[in-house]
Amino acid sequence: MDSNRTAKLEFAVQMSCDRCVNAVKGVLEKEPGVQSVQVNLGKEEVLVETALTSSQVQTLIESTGRRAVLKGMGGSESDLGAAVAMVQGVGLVQGVVRFLQLSQERCLIDGTIDGLQPGAHGLHVHELGDLTQDCRSCGDHFNPFGKPHGAPQDADRHVGDLGNVTAGPDGRASFRLEDSQIKVWDVIGRSLVVDSGEDDLGRGNHLLSKITGNSGDRLACGIIARSAGLFQNPKQICACDGVTLWEERDRPIAGTGRRVTDTPAAHL
Ligand code: ZN
Repeated sequence: MDSNRTAKLEFAVQMSCDRCVNAVKGVLEKEPGVQSVQVNLGKEEVLVETALTSSQVQTLIESTGRRAVLKGMGGSESDLGAAVAMVQGVGLVQGVVRFLQLSQERCLIDGTIDGLQPGAHGLHVHELGDLTQDCRSCGDHFNPFGKPHGAPQDADRHVGDLGNVTAGPDGRASFRLEDSQIKVWDVIGRSLVVDSGEDDLGRGNHLLSKITGNSGDRLACGIIARSAGLFQNPKQICACDGVTLWEERDRPIAGTGRRVTDTPAAHL
């Protein structure tokens, strides 16, 4: 399912000595899905060229006992823009999904969504970035060409149709897709929604099959926002409110959980 195309992932990693560098390099370099590893100890930065998902690489780095935070993603040769959606919903469903435009025809979509029921869940870009009524106000599947609902590989489909992602027994869906119809510049400002059920990809007999894929309720959603590409995010420590980059990942962007003394939310 994973694409063989590689991307470059830029991680901030807590490292203080050459031994740390060797430990991080060691664990990554023996992984078959990793093409190259560059470590900059001074900047506490690790650049990994890989076909693995960002969460797989993060897990590998963190297996050395260090925290890692994804700072940027880029194409192997060039990229034409990046975006990110922080997906949240009722209950414990939350995730981060990144979009990276590798060329006019190739958009890499890398994400992790936690708190799902095990099994398949429809994933779609919706027309509107309006979450004023939670996920109900973000409109229909993004469909600029007036096509019927379909599968990601169909030529005739909604542009927003990304098919299904599959959560494991732990409730986590970790995925990496490549899509030919999604363009980062067309989806920024719209929203990404994950559904409670499986998308039938327009193949079902249900009335909603050609409209939504009959994939159930909207579980969680997030606005797709422009994000940093490679080396565009120089941040190491956020001094503004005493939250370091290492704590950043476990905290909401704003609100009471933001304070250093609060218990970190379930991590991303
Ligand atoms: Zn659709």
